[in-house]
Amino acid sequence: MRINDIPTPAYVIDEKKLRENLEILKNVQEESGCHILLAQKAFSAFAEYPLIKQYLKGTTSSGLFEARLAYEEMGGEVHVYAPAFKEKDLLDLVHFCDHITFNSIAQVKKYAAMAIETSKQLNGNPYEDMGIMLLNEAPIVPKHLSLGLRVNPECSTQGEHAIYDPCAPGSRLGVTFDVFKKALEEDSTVLDNIEGLHFHTLCEQNSDDLVTTFEAFEKNFGPYLKKMKWLNMGGGHHITRKDYDREKLINLIKKIKSEYDVEVYLEPGEAIALNAGYLVTEVLDIVENGISTLILDASAACHMPDVLEMPYRPPLRDSGEAGEKKYTYRLSSYTCLAGDIIGDYSFDKEIRIGDRLIFEDMAIYSMVKNNTFNGIPLPDICAMDEEGNCRLIKSFGYDDFKCRLS
Ligand SMILES: *Cc1c(COP(=O)(O)O)cnc(C)c1O
Repeated sequence: MRINDIPTPAYVIDEKKLRENLEILKNVQEESGCHILLAQKAFSAFAEYPLIKQYLKGTTSSGLFEARLAYEEMGGEVHVYAPAFKEKDLLDLVHFCDHITFNSIAQVKKYAAMAIETSKQLNGNPYEDMGIMLLNEAPIVPKHLSLGLRVNPECSTQGEHAIYDPCAPGSRLGVTFDVFKKALEEDSTVLDNIEGLHFHTLCEQNSDDLVTTFEAFEKNFGPYLKKMKWLNMGGGHHITRKDYDREKLINLIKKIKSEYDVEVYLEPGEAIALNAGYLVTEVLDIVENGISTLILDASAACHMPDVLEMPYRPPLRDSGEAGEKKYTYRLSSYTCLAGDIIGDYSFDKEIRIGDRLIFEDMAIYSMVKNNTFNGIPLPDICAMDEEGNCRLIKSFGYDDFKCRLS
């Protein structure tokens, strides 16, 4: 099956592009000595984990479900960070994770000793302990548990996407230096179980912003980093983008490793599957009202929510800006939401009902965020191999809509 033959709507993962990204990331790992983890929040199509595993050291998770998925389907290092953990989840996470990062001093006080004690007692099958039926063989390895603390370097380097700025005033994400210092003044042993520091402040950014952020971090937290085993510099590094300055990143990591003698982690999501996927859709109707609107069998609200949330205009194959080419259309969906508009695009030829359109860069933050609002079906997931042959990985139906509602 070729991309023009698959039933729509469908996400198509481009394995050639994915592998090219992974080659770049592996090269950064080798040149710099850092460990790169897949942030599953961006991309969790685990059918591709066997491929990703050939290149990266492991994964990071935002909570119990992602961590369990990583443990079952990827193996390697399993990291987790969340703004707060529920006690039950934390006790389960200890089974799956080798690195747990806390967001506050209160969470450290509540859980650090408990997590370490629990991890020492683990010797059997985590699923038996948790009363869970094992779905398939998972690697069961006793792990050293290493705990970390997320800090806030209070250095905003991006104004473009305010909702993705964890350094915005009042941010709940990470401990500020004031709070950090005060906690140590009150109890000098409070961080005794903490082996790593973590910051995540970037979003689709280049290495110059990372350098700026590291300098801000270092100014305050540098002396404490000396006592740590690792530093995790989060995600948001657009390492696989054409204009990304990898040399600068590699030099920074080398410098950190030699000055502080720590393991350095990066946990990008976007960079791993950047431009490595498509959303293939069909034109169901064309509505005239001052502008010609194409009604597609895909939806911004359901299938690419970042278009409305971030917001941005997704790239579309063989198209231009509104007015740039001869025929301009507004692209929209068959949901009832008036604002379910993807954007205005132009084409060299007139679009007809039944034509197919291919949105690009649709592997990341799409499948992980989609939903069945309005009873709209979820797109299939296909993979396209290096020769351009597509195979169906997963299709969805009525039950996927119904079972979440009662
Ligand atoms: C979202 C997130 C990532 C991944 O970010 P990308 O922008 O997809 O690279 C990594 N770490 C943390 C803590 C995150 O919240």
